[in-house]
Amino acid sequence: MLRNTAAIAQKNTTLLKILGSTRSISNQPTIGRFTGKTNSSGTYTVPFIEGDGVGPEISKSVKDIFSAANVPIQWQPCDVGPIFVNGLTTIPEPAVKAIKESLVALKGPLATPVGKGHRSLNLTLRKTFDLFANVRPAKSVPNYKSTYENVDLVLIRENTEGEYSGIEHIVTPGVVQSIKLITREASEKVIRYAYEYAIAVGRPRLIVVHKSTIQRLGDGLFVQIANELQSEYPSIKLETQILDNTVLNVVSNPTLYKDAVSVCPNLYGDILSDLNSGLSAGSLGLTPSANIGDKVSIFEAVHGSAPDIAGQNKANPTALLLSSVMMLNHMGLEEHASRIENAVLSTIASGPESRTGDLGGSATTSSFTECVIKKL
Ligand code: ATP
Repeated sequence: MLRNTAAIAQKNTTLLKILGSTRSISNQPTIGRFTGKTNSSGTYTVPFIEGDGVGPEISKSVKDIFSAANVPIQWQPCDVGPIFVNGLTTIPEPAVKAIKESLVALKGPLATPVGKGHRSLNLTLRKTFDLFANVRPAKSVPNYKSTYENVDLVLIRENTEGEYSGIEHIVTPGVVQSIKLITREASEKVIRYAYEYAIAVGRPRLIVVHKSTIQRLGDGLFVQIANELQSEYPSIKLETQILDNTVLNVVSNPTLYKDAVSVCPNLYGDILSDLNSGLSAGSLGLTPSANIGDKVSIFEAVHGSAPDIAGQNKANPTALLLSSVMMLNHMGLEEHASRIENAVLSTIASGPESRTGDLGGSATTSSFTECVIKKL
């Protein structure tokens, strides 16, 4: 076993040196591996949830670039507008059916109305398809200078429970209780995936970020499971870090995490990954993510619907584009993935006139898209 995992890690490290990227990996963990098939004309059908706010604008960019790059994907419009069954938020059956058939989907940002009493649609999707791991790579972009250089962070966030379980009640007026749920089943799934991911990308350290000093039982169980699984992944060195130490370390010197994959409960992952995005690029507009389940996986930008710039042709489509690149790698379409990734990165590297406003540039969503198409 030891020799086997070490050999895979070595092979993957070599591959990554060639590809020069851990933003999108072409070697995939065995858990959650894509098993979808093309139709008789050789194309995959992929549901596309365009989302709210800037969603339609950045989705158009992805569709235009995929079409110019002749990617063998036929998009299927997918409406996940919430419906309510027995007081619970659910997504329409045709959307569930389409995603279950395709085993993969691309998703723009969905806004959650504040104070309307229904569960976040993002969470509903994650629960519906049991998307237990949320992979969030944050990597500096070549030739684009932000506050920190050479940032290359990978964070895997538990995606279905923890502080996002949606279990809250009023104990007595003025006193509410929110329950953070940690189960062995969900923790084991995400931690096992994180071990496998570390092997796949050739990173020898797995760091469990936690706060078990305070949340002794909940985070304690999370850490305990990581320790229990360690013997199955002897090529990976397991470390545990208290959340506040991680925050301090990562802003002091992000390169300390260059050879590591971090894994953590849901809320810590949400916050830490935005921090990582800020360190790598100073904008949320660059960070992709993958929601991995045993069968279905859904790829989406980390950012929200950006209502402040919606409909103004200002949004940076890079995060959704790089999420689509992660999706292509997941589907085994590596050549298309690297072609699009290279075109996107070289567009950003070309200078301020081809960058969108969030990166200090003057490009619009559509002029950025045209530039990427020219570089394909
Ligand atoms: P939501 O409630 O949907 O999460 P939000 O406004 O709270 O929306 P984000 O949508 O993530 O959170 O936006 C945070 C900030 O980042 C905003 O100033 C927004 O304009 C900016 N931003 C987010 N996505 C992009 C993007 N793709 N391009 C440019 N700026 C973006």
